[in-house]
Amino acid sequence: MYKFKKGDEVQVTAGRDKGRKGKIDKVLIKEDRVVVSGVNIYKRHKKATAKQGAGIYEIARPLPVANIALICPKCQKQTRVGFSIEGKNKVRVCKKCKGVIS
Ligand SMILES: [Zn+2]
Repeated sequence: MYKFKKGDEVQVTAGRDKGRKGKIDKVLIKEDRVVVSGVNIYKRHKKATAKQGAGIYEIARPLPVANIALICPKCQKQTRVGFSIEGKNKVRVCKKCKGVIS
Protein backbone atom coordinates (compact mmCIF):
# COMPACT_ATOMS: atom_id res chain seq x y z
CA MET A 1 0.00 0.00 0.00
CA TYR A 2 1.25 3.41 -0.94
CA LYS A 3 0.97 6.63 1.06
CA PHE A 4 -0.82 8.45 -1.70
CA LYS A 5 -3.46 7.54 -4.19
CA LYS A 6 -5.35 9.03 -7.05
CA GLY A 7 -7.93 11.59 -5.96
CA ASP A 8 -6.18 12.56 -2.72
CA GLU A 9 -6.04 16.25 -1.98
CA VAL A 10 -2.51 17.37 -1.34
CA GLN A 11 -0.52 20.50 -0.65
CA VAL A 12 2.86 21.23 -2.16
CA THR A 13 5.38 21.81 0.64
CA ALA A 14 8.53 22.54 -1.34
CA GLY A 15 9.69 23.70 -4.71
CA ARG A 16 8.39 26.15 -7.24
CA ASP A 17 4.70 25.57 -6.51
CA LYS A 18 5.02 25.54 -2.72
CA GLY A 19 1.71 26.23 -0.98
CA ARG A 20 -0.49 25.17 -3.85
CA LYS A 21 -3.18 22.58 -3.48
CA GLY A 22 -4.52 20.06 -5.88
CA LYS A 23 -5.79 16.57 -6.44
CA ILE A 24 -3.59 13.68 -7.37
CA ASP A 25 -4.10 12.66 -10.98
CA LYS A 26 -1.60 9.87 -11.14
CA VAL A 27 0.75 8.02 -8.80
CA LEU A 28 4.11 6.83 -10.09
CA ILE A 29 5.04 4.37 -7.37
CA LYS A 30 8.35 3.25 -8.85
CA GLU A 31 9.58 6.81 -9.15
CA ASP A 32 8.09 8.03 -5.85
CA ARG A 33 6.36 10.80 -7.72
CA VAL A 34 2.81 11.96 -8.23
CA VAL A 35 1.11 14.12 -10.81
CA VAL A 36 -1.08 16.77 -9.19
CA SER A 37 -3.58 18.42 -11.48
CA GLY A 38 -2.78 22.06 -12.13
CA VAL A 39 0.50 21.96 -10.22
CA ASN A 40 4.03 21.99 -11.63
CA ILE A 41 2.84 22.98 -15.07
CA TYR A 42 5.36 23.43 -17.78
CA LYS A 43 4.73 24.92 -21.15
CA ARG A 44 6.03 23.09 -24.10
CA HIS A 45 6.30 24.58 -27.51
CA LYS A 46 5.62 22.18 -30.29
CA LYS A 47 6.11 22.32 -33.98
CA ALA A 48 3.26 21.36 -36.23
CA THR A 49 3.01 17.73 -37.22
CA ALA A 50 0.67 15.99 -39.61
CA LYS A 51 -1.72 15.25 -36.75
CA GLN A 52 -1.39 18.33 -34.59
CA GLY A 53 -1.03 22.00 -35.19
CA ALA A 54 1.81 24.02 -33.74
CA GLY A 55 1.24 25.61 -30.36
CA ILE A 56 1.98 25.70 -26.68
CA TYR A 57 0.96 22.69 -24.68
CA GLU A 58 0.75 22.66 -20.91
CA ILE A 59 2.00 19.56 -19.23
CA ALA A 60 1.82 18.71 -15.52
CA ARG A 61 5.10 17.19 -14.47
CA PRO A 62 5.31 14.67 -11.65
CA LEU A 63 6.36 15.96 -8.22
CA PRO A 64 8.51 13.99 -5.79
CA VAL A 65 6.34 12.70 -2.93
CA ALA A 66 8.81 14.31 -0.51
CA ASN A 67 7.53 17.68 -1.71
CA ILE A 68 3.86 17.10 -1.01
CA ALA A 69 1.72 16.56 2.06
CA LEU A 70 -1.71 15.01 2.27
CA ILE A 71 -4.63 17.14 3.33
CA CYS A 72 -6.70 14.99 5.64
CA PRO A 73 -10.30 14.70 4.44
CA LYS A 74 -11.45 14.44 8.06
CA CYS A 75 -9.66 17.31 9.83
CA GLN A 76 -8.67 19.32 6.72
CA LYS A 77 -5.15 19.73 8.04
CA GLN A 78 -1.91 19.11 6.28
CA THR A 79 -0.75 15.83 7.70
CA ARG A 80 1.45 12.81 7.37
CA VAL A 81 0.04 9.42 6.54
CA GLY A 82 0.33 6.49 8.90
CA PHE A 83 -0.85 2.95 8.55
CA SER A 84 -3.02 0.91 10.82
CA ILE A 85 -4.43 -2.60 10.75
CA GLU A 86 -8.19 -2.87 10.96
CA GLY A 87 -9.27 -6.47 11.04
CA LYS A 88 -7.62 -7.96 7.99
CA ASN A 89 -7.17 -4.69 6.18
CA LYS A 90 -4.35 -2.24 6.26
CA VAL A 91 -5.72 1.28 6.21
CA ARG A 92 -4.25 4.74 5.96
CA VAL A 93 -4.66 6.99 8.95
CA CYS A 94 -4.12 10.68 9.56
CA LYS A 95 -1.32 11.23 12.06
CA LYS A 96 -3.06 14.29 13.45
CA CYS A 97 -6.66 13.23 14.06
CA LYS A 98 -6.10 9.45 13.77
CA GLY A 99 -9.00 9.32 11.35
CA VAL A 100 -9.06 6.61 8.73
CA ILE A 101 -8.45 7.87 5.21
CA SER A 102 -10.23 5.77 2.63
ZN1 LIG B 1 -6.94 14.27 10.12
